[in-house]
Amino acid sequence: MKKAIKEVLLTEAEITTRVKELGKEISVDYEGKDLLLVGILKGAVIFMAELCKNIDLPITIDFMAVSSYGNSSRSTGEVKIVKDLDFSVEGKDVLIVEDIIDTGLTLAYLTENLRSRGANSVRIVTLLDKPDRRNIEVKVDYLGFSIPDEFVIGYGLDYAELYRNLPFVASLKEEIYS
Ligand code: 5GP
Repeated sequence: MKKAIKEVLLTEAEITTRVKELGKEISVDYEGKDLLLVGILKGAVIFMAELCKNIDLPITIDFMAVSSYGNSSRSTGEVKIVKDLDFSVEGKDVLIVEDIIDTGLTLAYLTENLRSRGANSVRIVTLLDKPDRRNIEVKVDYLGFSIPDEFVIGYGLDYAELYRNLPFVASLKEEIYS
């Protein structure tokens, strides 16, 4: 796997520390609320698992899958729900758990979609943000790290379904995807 890595951008220790902080912040903000974490498959799975362990509240979790990048390294500009939630979000305080925001298209769509289903509130927590690439304005309520405009892998993020199991976030060598 090391052959594909250009540079480690965030170590496992850095991510663990930040995820703990986010968990604490969320625990304070959602005290007394009906918090539902909605993880976006598959990229957010590892972040979701770590984050929910650090939230000291009675919460529920659910997952959605949306189509985004396919097997390429750039967005196609289309958002389609591939797997919907198992339960209703009506009256819930929804926190969307995402791996990375790039153009903002996926989260702009999902936020609006979940609001229209009658959620009490819809907010966003993302592990990573590439602000340079934003096309649509999206309010990020909780952010792990801002990163430069580079294609990254690891900690749930893939390239052609590989590298999700790397315990850190790294940039991918251009020769792998060009
Ligand atoms: P957006 O809709 O914000 O353009 O794209 C969000 C989705 O694109 C993310 O959930 C993720 O699946 C994918 N994505 C964006 N940037 C990267 C990246 O650097 N690496 C990987 N592996 N996926 C990315």
